[in-house]
Amino acid sequence: MRIVVPAGGIGGARFLRGLKEALGVTGDGDATEEHTITVIGNTGDDITLFGLRICPDLDTVMYTLGGGINEAQGWGRAEETFTVKEELAAYGMHPTWFGLGDRDTATHIVRNQMMAAGYPLSQVTEALCDRWRPGVRLLPMTDDPVETHVVVEDEQGRRAMHFQEWWIRHRAALPASDIIGIGADSATPAPGVLEAIREADAVLLPPSNPVVSIGSILGVSGIREALEDATVVGVSPIIGGAPVRGMADVCLSAIGVETSAQAVAQHYGPRLLDGWLVDEADAASTRVDGITTRSRPLYMDSPEATAAIAREALDLASELKGGDQ
Ligand code: GDP
Ligand code: CA
Repeated sequence: MRIVVPAGGIGGARFLRGLKEALGVTGDGDATEEHTITVIGNTGDDITLFGLRICPDLDTVMYTLGGGINEAQGWGRAEETFTVKEELAAYGMHPTWFGLGDRDTATHIVRNQMMAAGYPLSQVTEALCDRWRPGVRLLPMTDDPVETHVVVEDEQGRRAMHFQEWWIRHRAALPASDIIGIGADSATPAPGVLEAIREADAVLLPPSNPVVSIGSILGVSGIREALEDATVVGVSPIIGGAPVRGMADVCLSAIGVETSAQAVAQHYGPRLLDGWLVDEADAASTRVDGITTRSRPLYMDSPEATAAIAREALDLASELKGGDQ
């Protein structure tokens, strides 16, 4: 089977680990594998700091699937040290709110060197994955610069700031009235993205942030339209009216969507979503015309539990695809 997964960072990466387990995918997606997984990674969170292009979601997927992630934290490298960060602070370099570890810095030096030599992000990502062997084909959603900005309003007035500044520096505490993907309209999908969607047996939306992860991928021109023609099953990131981890609720409020499994399904809509997996807590309250809903426990609290969620999503996709023909 050929599976495509548009994914953000932590939630997406954890789901992907379960999906690999469910499909028995171990290698790096070469032609001898029975099943292949293509990940369309969110790059809306990307930012340039200290002269380095930082791609948090791509790196989280690569490190998590490649065995280099800091498990407790969910992002960054295992066994990390922060000498470079301390030295930068000693020079008075800003910002001080972004933690780039020493091991992680090496990844960024490789990325910068390749980009300075003219390689597009998709080829840089492929080169980095040669080391990490994540077992999936990891594609950025686009090679073009897209940056998610958040419109905030406080005593200093109304202004837009980069998503990372709002999310990390202000811990999403500044009231947000909109979230915009700058550059998304004119960005084109990275090489391989539309082909992978067209050839997919199923597209699975992991429980990634529906606004700043999945939403920014859907914002790249052509991707949503391609997904509408595919069999798409989503896994709800919202359980019992709240995000399981993180602050997805404030992102949903900023774009006027209620924090519920039902509202997120409606927001994606029946043209995009064919199937929707919700937790048992949301079984009774989730019903959207044109979307087949199924319920099961949705906590990814162990590799086995996550693999079982992925298996259910694959089963639902197979059923719905059968029904289409
Ligand atoms: P990203 O969007 O993939 O970068 O990942 P985040 O870590 O920002 O989280 C995205 C979403 O995953 C959040 O809205 C969480 O509620 C959701 N999430 C985290 N853990 C779980 C889980 O165990 N089960 C489910 N269903 N959702 C989860
Ligand atoms: Ca569809």
